This record gives sequence, C-alpha cells and structure tokens, in this order.
Amino acid sequence: MPVTIAIVGAGPSGFYAAEALARAAVDCRIDIIERLPAPYGLIRYGVAPDHEKTKKVTRSFERTAGHERVGYYGNVELGRDLTLEELRGLYDAVVVATGAPLDRPLGIPGSDKAGVYGAAAFVGWYNGHPDFRDLDPRLDSPGVAIIGNGNVALDVARILAKTPEELSSTDLPDYAAEALRRAPIVELNLFGRRGPVQAKWANVELREMGHLADCLPVVDPAQLPESIADGLSERDRRLQEKNLATLRGFAGLEAGKQRKRVYFSFYAKPLEVLGGGRVEALRLERTRVEAGRAVGTGETFEVPCGLVVSSIGYRAEPIEGLPFDEGAGAVINRDGRVAGGLYVIGWAKRGPIGVISSNKPDGVTLARQITGDIDQGRKPGGPALERLLAGRGARWVGFADWKTIEAAEVAAAPPGAPRRKLIGVDDMLAVLDAAAGPPGGAG
Ligand SMILES: Cc1cc2nc3c(=O)[nH]c(=O)nc-3n(C[C@H](O)[C@H](O)[C@H](O)COP(=O)(O)OP(=O)(O)OC[C@H]3O[C@@H](n4cnc5c(N)ncnc54)[C@H](O)[C@@H]3O)c2cc1C
Repeated sequence: MPVTIAIVGAGPSGFYAAEALARAAVDCRIDIIERLPAPYGLIRYGVAPDHEKTKKVTRSFERTAGHERVGYYGNVELGRDLTLEELRGLYDAVVVATGAPLDRPLGIPGSDKAGVYGAAAFVGWYNGHPDFRDLDPRLDSPGVAIIGNGNVALDVARILAKTPEELSSTDLPDYAAEALRRAPIVELNLFGRRGPVQAKWANVELREMGHLADCLPVVDPAQLPESIADGLSERDRRLQEKNLATLRGFAGLEAGKQRKRVYFSFYAKPLEVLGGGRVEALRLERTRVEAGRAVGTGETFEVPCGLVVSSIGYRAEPIEGLPFDEGAGAVINRDGRVAGGLYVIGWAKRGPIGVISSNKPDGVTLARQITGDIDQGRKPGGPALERLLAGRGARWVGFADWKTIEAAEVAAAPPGAPRRKLIGVDDMLAVLDAAAGPPGGAG
C-alpha cells in the first residue's frame, strides 16, 4: 500500500514539497488540500499584480499537480471542513503548509482607527483575495503612510503610485483599479524605524521606484551614510551598497512633471495614529541606530495622512491541535517535525522569511524525513477523505476544475492583461456549474 501524504496549503511550500515527494523513491500518494478553489497561495494573492513574470513559477507547479502521484482538493479548509485529528486519521503523514497569512499588529495607540490596514489585508484587497474584497480601504485623502522597509511595503507604495495606464496590463480587479483611479493620493511616505542600510529591499524592487510615470522618489541625502559598516557578509555588503547607490540616485533626481511623491523616511518610529474615528495623521519619533537597534531620541513629528498601511511582518494562524509559538507566530517544530507523522514547512514553519524559491529546501528536507520515518502505507488517504467530505456536503474542486476556472479568467481578460480574476468562491464554483451544464442535461 502506498504511503499516503496530505499537504495542507497549495502555496509555494506545498507545491515544492509535493514535487520532492513525487520524485521520492518510496511509493506514495500525495494529496494537496487548499482552502480556496484557486491554488498557489501568495503567488496569486500576494505577489504584486504588476509583477506577472514572478508568477511564471506556477507553470512548474502545474506540472507537479499533473503528476500521477499527486491529487488536489481545493475549497477544503482544515479547521472548517475537517479537523487535524481527522486528517491524521486518514493519512500516514500530514504536512502543514498553511503559510503566515495574518498581519503582525502595529500595536500603537489609535491603530484600530478606520483607515489603518495591515499589508496582508491591503495586498489581499488589490489582489482579489476573497477574504478582503470588501475591505473598501479609505483612499480619499492625499496623504498615505506606509510603515515598514521591506519589499511588501515597496509593492504597496508602487501600486498606489502607478497611473491607471501603468496598471492596465495587470490582473488588478476592476473594483481596485477603479478605486485607485479615483484616489486623490499625491504624497506617499515610507517609514523605516532604522536606517537605509538596514532596509530589507531587493535592489531590483527599489530601483523600480525610480521609473514610475507620475511619481518622484524623494530621499533626504542627510539620511544616507557615507559608507557601510564593517563586519557584514559579502552578500549583505553588496546588497547594501547597491541600495545605497540607488537611494543616492533618487536623492539627485530633479523634479519633473510628476504629480506624486514617494518620500523615503528613515529613523522614524510610529508612536500613535491620530484622528477622531478615522486616521488623520501619524505621530512618529526620530530614532538613531545603536548596535543594530532603533532607539528613540524623544524628538517627535507628525505627518498628515488618511490611510496607513503597516507592513511589519506576518504571523501564521493557529490551528487546533498544532503546537504554536505565539512569540514567533509560527508552528513549534524541530526542523519541520511536529509530532509522529506531522510536519510543517514554508512560512508556517519559518515565519515570513524569504522569497518563493526559499521554500524549496523545506520540500527536499521533508521528502527525506517522510521517506526515512514511514516505511509503508497504513492509512487510506484520498478515497476516505472524499467519503468524509461528501458526508458533510463539502464541495471540493479538483485540479481539472481549477484549470476550467483559470481558462474562464484568461478568456475574460481585458486586452493586454493576463486574466480577470474571479474573486468570490461562489463565482468560481458558478463557472464549474456552467461548464457542467444543467443538472440531468447532456452537457
Ligand atoms: C505581499 C507579498 C508579496 C510577495 N511577493 C513576492 C515576490 O514578488 N517574489 C517572491 O519570490 N516572493 C514574494 N513573496 C514571498 C512568497 O510569497 C512566500 O515566500 C511564499 O508564498 C510562502 O509560501 P507558503 O507556501 O509557506 O505560504 P503561502 O503562499 O501563504 O501559501 C499557504 C497556502 O495555504 C492555504 N491555507 C491556509 N490555511 C489553510 C487551511 N486551514 N486549510 C487549507 N489551506 C489553507 C492558503 O490559502 C494558501 O494557499 C511575497 C510575500 C508577500 C506576503
């Protein structure tokens, strides 16, 4: 009997793991279980809509899904449709690959005011994630504050800074394109608690900020150090030098006809969100960096804004039956092992660190662990899962179904755009109903 393995989560870590297991020497059957009908996790719902090339990795995931050992159960949520205990009863190994979908809270006074959003929610909104399509973010003020100095903060700034023409060849949902078109935003402030050399940007993303049609990047040259401190790895040194050179280039740019400005503000720690019911300004404290940490100087300042997006990291979502480290916001594990026959990979294991390909080694490690830990299959896997789901009236979506949904999205794409995403789960299921034809009909 083959070893049965359930991977929960169809993001990059889930697919890399399925790929490694599909190649493993041991006879196994791998089922990927995903809460949404659509696979690919943050590739579909996180990667910026104007970075279509980054999403091309899904082609190799598609090949993995087509492998004879691999099955796909979309629209099935662990915790909603079945418990972890039930799943462990059905499969020899259960692999948690559910990512880190929750925003780390900003945790300053006033951060509950209307107009303050975490990046997970805001990015989910402009990427058409069904959980966030009704976010209706406050985009009616000229000023925006974006907190955090990572790539996601740059994504948010860029999407808010781009013109409708620049966004027209993306898969931005119509509701988001329309809201952004109407938004009177002209001033974007990117705040980092520490200095420019501590920022975690990829240089290619930072450079993009210098090539926007209607937005000028503004940097105060006084905030840029002359040189980089000693003691860094060669890789970090090179990255920091590149980013500093890019920022120096921004500092030397002449203002043209751009309507918008994106201000890079370093050494600024948010203290309080100000306003009545909704955000009107952000109060910050100037900092200096001591031994790599931001230390407040006591000097404060305020920046008017109607929208605050905080991009200061993500946390995994606790799942009943899984030991959880509240501090790290991740599942407690020893190199991916959680308990006998229970494993964790990707952002649920490591926290929100690394790019898509950083999840690949987890899959390789996992395949080695499972093939070493489990010598033969004992549990029924897919057929028993289907019986359990059918008994509960749960409707799962196979990979061929997903391809039907995807084809409908591509067919509906406006000229030049890759797809028009179907947003609601119901909308996706309706495509399948339409493709199946009327009940009892010949189609
Ligand atoms: C906004 C943003 C933009 C990014 N942009 C880039 C980029 O441009 N390039 C790059 O290389 N990297 C980028 N990254 C990083 C990259 O997306 C991550 O490294 C990667 O997605 C992590 O993979 P994962 O599989 O662990 O998690 P995820 O991609 O989050 O996948 C987790 C999956 O599990 C599913 N799931 C969750 N809970 C359940 C449940 N209870 N039951 C069933 N299924 C469940 C989710 O729906 C999701 O599909 C970005 C990250 C973010 C947050």
